[in-house]
Amino acid sequence: MTSELDHFDICIVGAGVVGLAIACQLSRHPLLRRHSLVILERESGFGQHTSSRNSEVIHAGIYYPQHSLKARLCVRGKHLLYEHCSRHDVAFQRTGKLIVAQTTQAGELEQIADKAAANGVEDLRWLDFRALQELEPAVRGHTALLSPSTGIIDSHRYMESLLHLAQQAGAHYAPYTVVDAVEPTATAYQVQCRIGGNTEQESYRFTADSLINCAGLEAQSLASRIAGLPATCIPSLYLCKGDYFSYTGRSPFRHLIYPVPEKHITGLGIHGTLDLSGQLRFGPDANYVETLNYTIDPHKNIHFAQAIAPYFPDINANRLVPAYAGIRPKLVPAGAAAADFSIQEYSAFKLPGLIQLFGIESPGLTASLAIGEHVAELVCDYLG
Ligand SMILES: Cc1cc2nc3c(=O)[nH]c(=O)nc-3n(C[C@H](O)[C@H](O)[C@H](O)COP(=O)(O)OP(=O)(O)OC[C@H]3O[C@@H](n4cnc5c(N)ncnc54)[C@H](O)[C@@H]3O)c2cc1C
Repeated sequence: MTSELDHFDICIVGAGVVGLAIACQLSRHPLLRRHSLVILERESGFGQHTSSRNSEVIHAGIYYPQHSLKARLCVRGKHLLYEHCSRHDVAFQRTGKLIVAQTTQAGELEQIADKAAANGVEDLRWLDFRALQELEPAVRGHTALLSPSTGIIDSHRYMESLLHLAQQAGAHYAPYTVVDAVEPTATAYQVQCRIGGNTEQESYRFTADSLINCAGLEAQSLASRIAGLPATCIPSLYLCKGDYFSYTGRSPFRHLIYPVPEKHITGLGIHGTLDLSGQLRFGPDANYVETLNYTIDPHKNIHFAQAIAPYFPDINANRLVPAYAGIRPKLVPAGAAAADFSIQEYSAFKLPGLIQLFGIESPGLTASLAIGEHVAELVCDYLG
């Protein structure tokens, strides 16, 4: 360890929901509680990127391949998240969700139900046409699956609670701190940062025994600035943008309403979700883009209305108003089967204590506390 530099046992880069949940789980871990921890965030505050540009849905764990990290961490994360919300005064609602199949899609809905059961989601209920009409009169479909354990959450308040718990346990939080480069030394990682807002910036160096890269859309870029990390360890990044439109006026739905995803599309199909104030919004769609750009073409409302009409025939395109957009950090290009989360440790490459998270798209919010648990175990294997 370089004695003249400040030192932290654990350094987390990125205060999105994943970095904050990791910090919270590390500070709760019986063997890591006494280790010093710092969370670095380039922006003025936490969660300003993907973590505040999503549907705020607590997913049940229905769609992901059996045994995948997405399936395991979503199902575990959902339980941890509901418990966390109840205990720490974070607003949430178990709205329930309907996946609505049209006449030709009954077989696909059965496959979804089988996948859910394989993932341990055992509370799904089948609704026939009549039961669907009774539950959601504005929705049209041949059959539907009701997922009672799907819900919505105040994600900002959730992140605030994670940071608060980590800080209460002694974690340091440094906003306006950009990590520029990482240099492994014989015993630690030397972290080179810039501190300060857009105007006056100072450079600052410190060492850390364990470094956790959860920089979201910037994770690959940061990985490329870690000396000694083989380029083959850094997966490709593909940006996939999702736009949302608010539906003005009173919501015709009480549940979250999803179509059966069509085979050729990326994502779950344009669906209707509610926020905690009852506002209905539709989205996200999925378009691969080259750069980070969150603007929305207002004329897309027509395309949205066409996609929504099969399950909501009374859709009025004029009530669809651009809301916001988010960008998924995908690991595979358009047309490829969805990739799993990638959570890597590098002891085999003589970089022990380095942990990197790539491709943490949906259900990353739901899975965040389970991701935190998993990463805390990896850190414990090294430091504990
Ligand atoms: C359209 C969309 C809808 C979604 N809907 C849902 C949903 O309903 N439910 C669900 O469970 N999940 C959903 N997700 C997924 C979820 O939002 C993400 O998995 C989660 O927010 C990822 O969090 P993160 O912390 O990894 O990334 P981010 O929130 O992007 O955080 C990364 C942080 O790292 C910081 N950073 C980057 N580089 C540096 C650096 N060099 N130095 C310091 N700091 C740095 C950034 O400023 C940022 O704050 C959705 C995602 C999208 C895109």
